[in-house]
Amino acid sequence: MDVKNNANFVMPAAVAALNTPQQLSPALAAEVERQLAGRTRDIHLNKELAELFRQRSWPQASKIIRAWMIWVAVIDILTLGINAILLPAETVMSMFLPALIVPPVALATAVAFTRPASLRKRRLTALSGLFVILLCLARLGVDAGAEFHERHLTIMLFVAVTAIIIFPLPLLFAVATAVFSIGLCLVFQLKNPAIGTGSALSDTLFFSIGVLATVVARRTANILAHKTFLLELRDRNRLADLTDANTQLERLAGTDPLTGVANRRSMGQSLHAFWTANIGNGKGVAMLMCDIDHFKRLNDSLGHAEGDRCLVAVAKLIRACLRDGIDQVSRYGGEEFLILLPGSDEQAARAVAERIRREIEAAALPNPASSVIPYVTVSIGVAVLAHNSEAVSAERLQKRADVALYRAKENGRNRVVVYAPDAGP
Ligand code: GH3
Ligand code: MG
Ligand code: MG
Repeated sequence: MDVKNNANFVMPAAVAALNTPQQLSPALAAEVERQLAGRTRDIHLNKELAELFRQRSWPQASKIIRAWMIWVAVIDILTLGINAILLPAETVMSMFLPALIVPPVALATAVAFTRPASLRKRRLTALSGLFVILLCLARLGVDAGAEFHERHLTIMLFVAVTAIIIFPLPLLFAVATAVFSIGLCLVFQLKNPAIGTGSALSDTLFFSIGVLATVVARRTANILAHKTFLLELRDRNRLADLTDANTQLERLAGTDPLTGVANRRSMGQSLHAFWTANIGNGKGVAMLMCDIDHFKRLNDSLGHAEGDRCLVAVAKLIRACLRDGIDQVSRYGGEEFLILLPGSDEQAARAVAERIRREIEAAALPNPASSVIPYVTVSIGVAVLAHNSEAVSAERLQKRADVALYRAKENGRNRVVVYAPDAGP
């Protein structure tokens, strides 16, 4: 199906929902449920659902119609060949012209389906191709005369009936085909010199009942196809709901509920993914271990709630100093934040750490009992894995950042210390 070139393609968002487990609009989902809650025979697709159904079912319908047209062309040629062997030359000659029209018309109709066009145009092509074929088949009998007259009208009706049964098209198409074929049958039977008007009428009536039965069957098949489609939409919608819920859960499972930054578990996964993808390829990375100074004193003097507010504010300040979509911050312990700076060298990492320290100090969040200044400050340990240096595990780099943090605390807090190789692991 060529969606771009399809003039009937008016609801891209809704149609896109057919191809991905996207959620239907609440109104459409409610309509699907309403239809499925009722009796099958009462299913009626509204305009939007009908459009979705057409887009969904057309590729299959198109294939069926194409195959049918090709088979009609093949069978017509074969029949003509067999007739040429079995029947007198005069009869064969009289069949020749209408029989020769069928294959090109059938093939042209089949080819028309491979071209991009609106659904409406393609349906009209199918209908007109079918009508020409039916007309030729009926004409064939009339031209051949004698017993071939009635025989070919029966063949024409048989062809019409197979089209009604196997073309998965709207009921209107089936009704039009039925009316056209019965009309043809009546007109050509009335012209049959071998039978009287009464016979022609009763024959046509008899055939009409058979043709109408296939129209009823087509109607039932259409309703069942609509039901299957509605069930499919419901499944897709539920799948989309589940996918959404899973994504939400996944996000929540990896988020620290107080500060909204990643939690330790999520950072563990990020580190693993980062190390797998980058380390060993010579790419550098820096790790910052950031710890609030004298946080216990803040809790003790201002209360736990104020401590929580401080954690939220610090996380926000840290986030503001990082590159969106590149750097990552996680709450690693009570008042500890682990920060990952991909591709940063020592100078860049130190600059980021210093900026975080400064911004937090400048925010002047109270910590009256701190031994540093009466405001919240942080100490930051930095460990860098330089570009093209020997690979080091994430755990080891983290340990180095911890060692550097310990130094920062020892040296008086509210400072940044970069890990020095002679200092530990
Ligand atoms: P230092 O400068 O050496 O890091 O001292 P500190 O007081 O910050 O460190 P310490 O490890 O002694 O205390 C950390 C405190 O953080 C103890 C704990 O009660 C508090 N804490 C841990 N998680 C939370 C939390 O979610 N909310 C609050 N308000 N406090 C927390
Ligand atoms: Mg602390
Ligand atoms: Mg701590």
